[in-house]
Amino acid sequence: MIETGDFKLDNRLVSTQELEEDTGVEKGLRPLSLAEYIGQDKVKEIMAIYIEAAKRREGALDHVLLYGPPGLGKTTLSAIIAREMGVNLRITTGPAIERPGDLAAILTNLSAGDVLFIDEIHRLNRAVEEILYPALEDHAIDIVVGKGPSARSLRVDLPEFTLVGATTRAGQLSAPLRDRFGIVQRLELYTPKQLSDIIRRSAQILGIPCTADGALELARRSRGTPRIANRLLKRVRDFADVIGNGEITEQIAKMALNRLEIDELGLDSNDRRMLDMIIKGYGGGPVGLETLASALGEEAVTLEDVCEPFLMQLGFLSRTPRGRCATQSAYIHLGYPVQQQENLQLLLDTE
Ligand code: ADP
Repeated sequence: MIETGDFKLDNRLVSTQELEEDTGVEKGLRPLSLAEYIGQDKVKEIMAIYIEAAKRREGALDHVLLYGPPGLGKTTLSAIIAREMGVNLRITTGPAIERPGDLAAILTNLSAGDVLFIDEIHRLNRAVEEILYPALEDHAIDIVVGKGPSARSLRVDLPEFTLVGATTRAGQLSAPLRDRFGIVQRLELYTPKQLSDIIRRSAQILGIPCTADGALELARRSRGTPRIANRLLKRVRDFADVIGNGEITEQIAKMALNRLEIDELGLDSNDRRMLDMIIKGYGGGPVGLETLASALGEEAVTLEDVCEPFLMQLGFLSRTPRGRCATQSAYIHLGYPVQQQENLQLLLDTE
C-alpha cells in the first residue's frame, strides 16, 4: 500500500485492486460456470463456442488473452474456462516469475490440457518471455544445461496446455507475445443493471437481505466493477445492521455511501481531490501527470492506474499531449462555474 499524506489510493474503498478484506470472501463469491458469470455477453458467447470446439476435438483450448481494468472478472473467467474444459488451473503472475527457470518449472509440471493463468502478463521480463514463445507455439522449451563453453541447449517437450494471460495494459504487451494468443478478448465495465444482478447474487450467498432498489443504488456507485460492488455490499451491510433492521434498502445504501464519501457517481474523496487540484491548482489543465502526482504527494503510476481510467470513462478527465485536463462535466459535477472551462477550451484551440 502506498500512503502519502492523506491521499491513500491503494487501500481505498473504491480501489479496483484486490484488498486484504476481499480475500476469502471473493473466493466464495466467484461464479463457477459461464452461466453464472453475469454480463460480458460477447465474451461469454465466443468462449462457449471455443470451449465446445476444443472439447469436441479433445484438444487444448487455444491461448487466450483477456484485457481490461482490474476487478472485472479476468481471474474468475480463467477459472471458469478451466472448469468448463474439465482441466486443472494453475495461477501465477508476471512479476512472480523472476527467472526463466521459474517458468520452466511451472511449465514442466503441467498436465495435458491444463490452463496456466498468468495475471499481469505485461510485467513478464524479456528472458522469461523468450522461454514462453516456443512453449506456446511448439509445446517445448529449450533449457540451457551447464555453463561456459560446455553449455548446451536441451529441448524438453511439454504437454499441450492453454495459457490464459490477463493484463490491464494490452498496449504494453510485446508484439511477439501478443501474436501468440489465438483468442483475444476485452472485458468491458459493467452496467448498473448487471452490477445490481451481481450484488443480489452475492447478497444471497452471504445471507444479506437486500432490496432491488438497494442493490441498484450500490451498483450505480461501483465504478462498473464487480470487485468494488461486492466490497461496498459488505461495508453497507454493517450500516444496515447497526442503523436499520439488517436489510439494505435504497435509503440505507444512500446514507451509508454518503457517509463513506462515495458520491452518486462512485467518485471518492481522492478522485475529487485530483480533479480539484487540476481545476484550482492548474486552471483546469493541461497539467503533466508527474507534476500533478507530486502536487498530490502520489506516484504517477498509481494515479494513472487507479484514478484515471474511471475519471476518463465518466468523461471528467481528458489526456492531451500536453497533460491532463478537467472537462466541463467535471466542473459541473464538482460545482465549479463552467466558464473557466470555456477559457481553457479557448486556450487549447488557439495553441
Ligand atoms: P480480475 O482478475 O479482473 O481483477 P476477478 O476475477 O478477481 O477480477 O473478480 C473480482 C471479483 O468480482 C470476483 O471475486 C467475483 O466475485 C466478482 N466477479 C467478477 N466478474 C463477475 C461476473 N461476471 N459475475 C459475477 N461476479 C463477478
